[in-house]
Amino acid sequence: MNLKIIIGDITKIKCDIIVNAANSTLLGGGGVDGAIHRAAGKELLKECRTLGGCREGQAKITGGYKLFAEYVIHTVGPIYSGGNRNEENILISCYKNSLALAKEYNASSVAFPVISAGAYGYPKEEALRVAVDTIISEEGDMDVYIVLFDKELVDIAKKRFYEYMDN
Ligand code: ADP
Repeated sequence: MNLKIIIGDITKIKCDIIVNAANSTLLGGGGVDGAIHRAAGKELLKECRTLGGCREGQAKITGGYKLFAEYVIHTVGPIYSGGNRNEENILISCYKNSLALAKEYNASSVAFPVISAGAYGYPKEEALRVAVDTIISEEGDMDVYIVLFDKELVDIAKKRFYEYMDN
């Protein structure tokens, strides 16, 4: 995959698919989930209600409604609780399953937030490292963006993943 790390609000990104760091109900929440639901409009929640939730590490797709993106992929990251509960593998699955779904829908571009790095408490640097490593190790020529929203992650990215940044 072609990876670029950018800074901004994922609801404003112009690409085929954006990924939501959802919770297992898929019925909306805070953070990026709340922002995506607000920007997409009520129809998104209506479709999410038909999906019956989603397990950690899995991903489901809906329309993008008022967003620029045609689709939203909802994936449920692990809630971090020390690192010994398979959190890393679950987080890797979020990226892999989301990318597989994006490929299935013939996306040429997809944008991710840093899954689990907010309310779910995954250490930010590790959450970003898992995102980068998993995305670059996947086969395919999709343009994949990681969208950073908080300053701490921007500082980490500038120090450690500068080669992928273009702003
Ligand atoms: P989780 O519950 O998976 O931790 P959060 O939404 O709490 O999800 O946080 C995940 C990451 O998304 C955090 O780094 C947070 O700063 C970021 N984030 C919040 N709002 C936005 C947004 N509008 N665009 C991109 N990233 C966002």
